[in-house]
Amino acid sequence: MTELQKPLAPKNAFSANRLIGVDDLSDAEIYYLLDLAEYYAGFVDRSEPAPQILTGKTQINLFFEDSTRTNLSFELAGKKLGTDVINVPVAASSLHKGESLVDTARTLAAMGADVMVVRAKEEGLHEQLSKILDCAIVNGGAGALEHPTQALLDAATITMEVGPLKDKTIAICGDVKHSRVASSDAQLFTRLGATVRFVGPAALMPSSNEFPDVERFKSLATGLDNADIAMGLRMQFERMADTDKIREAAKDYFNEFGLTHETMKHAKSGAKVMHPGPMNRGVEICGNLADDRSVSLIEKQVFYGVAIRMAVLDALSAKE
Ligand code: ASP
Repeated sequence: MTELQKPLAPKNAFSANRLIGVDDLSDAEIYYLLDLAEYYAGFVDRSEPAPQILTGKTQINLFFEDSTRTNLSFELAGKKLGTDVINVPVAASSLHKGESLVDTARTLAAMGADVMVVRAKEEGLHEQLSKILDCAIVNGGAGALEHPTQALLDAATITMEVGPLKDKTIAICGDVKHSRVASSDAQLFTRLGATVRFVGPAALMPSSNEFPDVERFKSLATGLDNADIAMGLRMQFERMADTDKIREAAKDYFNEFGLTHETMKHAKSGAKVMHPGPMNRGVEICGNLADDRSVSLIEKQVFYGVAIRMAVLDALSAKE
């Protein structure tokens, strides 16, 4: 077995000690994290123990919103690197005694956290925490705004499974308006030289002054035309004002915007489908397509999710 070579960090990288949005990363830091994820993927893939570079460090996962993949992959990533990981049981915490989110985070930081992974919908909370706490702050999902480690894992998946993003066409389909994944993906993929498209009904598109570099399409036939990747998005019912009406429309939505083997024929031959999960089968994507490993990279996304989070934890908390 060949020895895995760890890439060298760029000079003065990650000095801000935070990853809140894609904008926090320089180009050199983005490419370094992708290389580092490739290195760590080697350990995840071979089930070989990774170097315990974070022994003695403390990682606190503070998720105020629901999560399966992000929370658990951060936990696994931290454990693989030897850190002490604590998942805060938010439902049973003092938040219900009236403590503010900031005070909860402050209390946890005082226990000696080196890195805190925070998911919350409150705008500006991550920013505020990064100013008042000494530990590294990683955004594990901020409302409908940003989800930078999802964008990094999506970029890692495309790079590793399809090829460099430069000159690829990536169609992000569905409920773009409420999706922090779409927002972070669009920013990161554009930075990496891809052409990004948003595809979906007008009601689920962000306002026209946002994302000036992204092309917009109202049908899958035109939006997927010649695309290398179709990225499906979950209908974010929990962020919609008129939930019931849209729920009722979900069946029609699938007929018009559902990703299926049939609709993928509009894309480039050999195009791949991705989805950040959790999926609503039969709403934005057909189960058969999602499960077809010759087209679907969805499980690969989960796999690279562990590797990219190992890379982020290494980059942000391995420092003295
Ligand atoms: N898991 C992703 C997120 O946290 C996508 C989703 O929830 O639909 O944003």
